[in-house]
Amino acid sequence: MKTKYHICFSLLLTIIWASMAHAKLHIVTTTSDLGAIAREIGKDKVEVNSIAKPTEDPHFVDAKPGFIVKLNKADMLIDGGLQLEIGWLPTLVTGARNQKILPGNPGYLVAATGISVLEAPASLDRAMGDVHPLGNPHFMLDPVNGKIVAAHICDRLCLIDAVNCTYYKNNLNDFVKRLDDKLPEWQKMLKPYQGIKIVTYHKTFPYFAKRFNLDVVDTLEPKPGIPPSPTHISHLIPMMKHEGVKLVVIEQFRERKIPGFVADQTGAKVVILPIMVGGLKETDDYLSFFDYTIQQIISALTTKS
Ligand SMILES: [Zn+2]
Repeated sequence: MKTKYHICFSLLLTIIWASMAHAKLHIVTTTSDLGAIAREIGKDKVEVNSIAKPTEDPHFVDAKPGFIVKLNKADMLIDGGLQLEIGWLPTLVTGARNQKILPGNPGYLVAATGISVLEAPASLDRAMGDVHPLGNPHFMLDPVNGKIVAAHICDRLCLIDAVNCTYYKNNLNDFVKRLDDKLPEWQKMLKPYQGIKIVTYHKTFPYFAKRFNLDVVDTLEPKPGIPPSPTHISHLIPMMKHEGVKLVVIEQFRERKIPGFVADQTGAKVVILPIMVGGLKETDDYLSFFDYTIQQIISALTTKS
């Protein structure tokens, strides 16, 4: 005869079993674009939190201590790499005391692995505070790199959660197919403008520019992470006039005064763009991010001021 104790015990087992069957993997990503890709691959089997707000400069993130708790419970940490996060991630990871997400373990993934890095220096150089000492870390702005990162995430999820590997692979195939359908559409939209000269605030856009044949001739910053100086701007303005620069492209978190002044002096237009998924409501996933970005560039080039 079953006692009350036995009934309670089997009920408890059922609850534990059910919760295990539906337990989601906890993924923390440093930036929201990596988070968006992790969601594409993991879908309802993962819970994703991203540390950097999509509206802030990813080099200088105000990392909330609450992320130590999230990292402590994480099954996986996805780090962009190339030292983008070096100023704010290590303290959080140390505080989290979670072996699973330390380098060398399956729960730690460097997204930049396998990416063709642009602007890689011949030797490590932090002269003048350069924040790109290992090359340019803004590789997620090339949608083809998004596919590489998606494949890495899928491989790693298969390693951590082998039971659902087919599910992750199907999601990867679906994501790659949707992206491959979009890419020629985006390239066609920008084809009439290929080779146009632009100036950007920071070296955020070289991967995007390379993929879509835009020519970044200079930046408002004299070096990545160093604010614009009067000397640099005074050289930049005549050069932009001479080269016929059409756009000054800035990230949404930048101050507007210097870009506005440079645009006024040169006849270029200022375009304000989000640089990560979720920066604006129109950019809530990786593909819509490129839809929006490309539309904004075309609109700036075709609208008379
Ligand atoms: Zn940068």
